Amino acid sequence: MPPRHLYIHIPFCARRCSYCDFSIAVRSTTPVDEYVTALRTEMDGLLENLEGATLDTVYLGGGTPSRLGGIGIGDVLGTVRDCARISDAPEITIEANPDDVNDMAVAHWVAAGVNRVSLGSQSFDDASLKWMHRTHDSSQIGLAVNTLRRGGLENISLDLIFALPAHLGRSWESDLIRALDLEPAHLSLYGLTVEAQTPIARWADRGATVQGSEGNYEEEFLSAHAMMVGAGYDHYEVSNFALPGMTSRHNSAYWTGASYVGVGPSAHSFDGATRRWNVSAYSEWIRRLGVGETVLGGEECLTEDNRTVEEVYLGLRTRRGLEIGEEETARIQTWEAAGWAVIDEPRKDLRVRLTATGWLRLDSLAADLAAQGRGRAPGSQDK
Ligand code: SF4
Repeated sequence: MPPRHLYIHIPFCARRCSYCDFSIAVRSTTPVDEYVTALRTEMDGLLENLEGATLDTVYLGGGTPSRLGGIGIGDVLGTVRDCARISDAPEITIEANPDDVNDMAVAHWVAAGVNRVSLGSQSFDDASLKWMHRTHDSSQIGLAVNTLRRGGLENISLDLIFALPAHLGRSWESDLIRALDLEPAHLSLYGLTVEAQTPIARWADRGATVQGSEGNYEEEFLSAHAMMVGAGYDHYEVSNFALPGMTSRHNSAYWTGASYVGVGPSAHSFDGATRRWNVSAYSEWIRRLGVGETVLGGEECLTEDNRTVEEVYLGLRTRRGLEIGEEETARIQTWEAAGWAVIDEPRKDLRVRLTATGWLRLDSLAADLAAQGRGRAPGSQDK
């Protein structure tokens, strides 16, 4: 099957946030023309893979794609249209930082076909935003949402981070209330983790407290679940909440094991059997494309064991859940008794879904089930 999902990595950021270990290129001035030229070269090389493809979703992620501005995003999506057909009703998402959102940029994004925005909000607490090295303050989040709506972009997702260190004095409840006041279609809530090579990892090495306690993580995750569900959002994936009909189609494709193509530095692709990824450093990606070399950084062919582990994990992280066999029900019933899961019995198949409390144990429960060598995500493609 030709791919129906395209991810484009746009790596530019004004500076590195304190918790971020993504593949980024810190630039005070974004090299828009250099990037777009290189992207076109990479996509020209993929014409064979994209032949016959009709893209249902395009996701501009990063980095900070909004750093390309209005015209740059128009050029990126123009390149996509030159190389592949886009469906009549696609989902085209751009990740944006609040301080990059202005009327002119939004007008260009809409004209280029963007119809969904994932806004990197992270918190409404200015001290916390400063600690995170974010480039925006809390007042810019609401302004950005208003500007997006004024320009015709209603499908807005807000990102927030929980489990911040207590010394920041950030109120999670107040942040959730302020986010809900903006009536976003979608919210992504991530617990802070300390990744190697990040500023907060260095602060931790020097003895600083850089994240909330485990108890704080659990409390904030569960309070977010209760508040969002109470406000009418579906907690449809461990980190994601959506109003009815507003789930992320692109990310949902990842969670069902669909194939996808990724372009740009560090982007990953998956064809149903093999996962491939590009070189990570922007400078190396540019260099290779400039001299006609492949930008492939590596690849991994999934074994039968890999597939089982992935299918179990993907199924359990979403509300779709996972089909299980009769022989597994005894094990799953112990999860049910602990409040971690529910077993549905639709017309044909037994299916387990994790509860919010179960999602706090997602990794260990998925490992437990995958270790039995069983589990098949309902509706997933045969990866
Ligand atoms: S804006 Fe996003 S990608 Fe850029 S440094 Fe911050 S968290 Fe990382």
